[in-house]
Amino acid sequence: QQSLSAAFQALGDVFSALSAAVGAADKVIELMKRQPAVAETGTLVPAAFAGKLTVQDVVFHYPARPTLRVLSGLSVVVNPGEIVALVGPSGGGKSSIVKLVERFYVPEEGRVLIDDRPVGEYDRKWLKQRVALVSQEPVLYARSIRRNILYGLEEQDGLPPEEVPTFADVEEAARLANAHDFICALPDGYETECGEKGVQLSGGQKQRIAIARALVRRPAVLLLDEATSALDADSEAVVQEALDRTMKSRTVLVIAHRLSTVQDAHRIVVIQHGQVAEQGTHDQLLEAGGTYASLVRRQLARAPSAAGLLPSPSSA
Ligand code: ATP
Repeated sequence: QQSLSAAFQALGDVFSALSAAVGAADKVIELMKRQPAVAETGTLVPAAFAGKLTVQDVVFHYPARPTLRVLSGLSVVVNPGEIVALVGPSGGGKSSIVKLVERFYVPEEGRVLIDDRPVGEYDRKWLKQRVALVSQEPVLYARSIRRNILYGLEEQDGLPPEEVPTFADVEEAARLANAHDFICALPDGYETECGEKGVQLSGGQKQRIAIARALVRRPAVLLLDEATSALDADSEAVVQEALDRTMKSRTVLVIAHRLSTVQDAHRIVVIQHGQVAEQGTHDQLLEAGGTYASLVRRQLARAPSAAGLLPSPSSA
């Protein structure tokens, strides 16, 4: 009898596990239904590419958090060759904008345009070469450093051989990214394996490989999420130098943490609660005395060395 009740007990456990699993499966299906159709990709391969970026009246929430509206009618335009810095309090929606441009997600309302055409119309591979992303936590794959830089641009990725960057291209990108010297010092140079079983690289080294990966594409548009605290001071300086070089003469949308980037940007867009709170140049925004001015004041209170941020007496 005891064994019978144990059997029933076990059966009960199986049932509750099963119904939990069914419930979970329901949720998964529900989430899949909500997942935007990011897999769909267009075929557009335009002959010319200026690199204008337009985020127009975008409303967005993450599929997994339908109750949290992340962007509420947000619009930002980055003209060809312009450097636009996104700043603002944590959680305001800056990274989400970049993810929408990268087509990781599709907005609920509004549009994301590249050269005035919806981003989804473009051939995805083509677009990935023209619009490059350098994120704060770059992913390196279990393959050589050379192939990590080339990621997505090899013959096996469907590229015609003449379009695959040469080793000289890889090396040039690595030099610009301040990565060439440390790569050469590794046991197998550019053929050194990365990943779990390969060489362990520091945060700054990974970031520089990610910059080289972006540069080898010679992208017209660069999406940049500047590192905050992941790097030590030495590697921060070399990474920053590489980033400054990378930003030259292209369209750049940068989530800016560094004061120098913010100050040098052609335009600063302050994002707060999923909306543009204000925009303008550093001086214009300081003068306006709004959110940006108070962000700067707060930075100054924390780091008095940033006093150069305030207008000099002659320009005040
Ligand atoms: P930070 O400066 O801290 O990077 P941010 O301005 O870039 O912040 P986002 O990362 O865009 O802000 O986040 C906006 C909101 O979306 C936050 O409330 C965040 O918790 C939420 N969020 C971000 N990523 C996801 C995700 N993958 N799933 C669900 N919610 C998310």
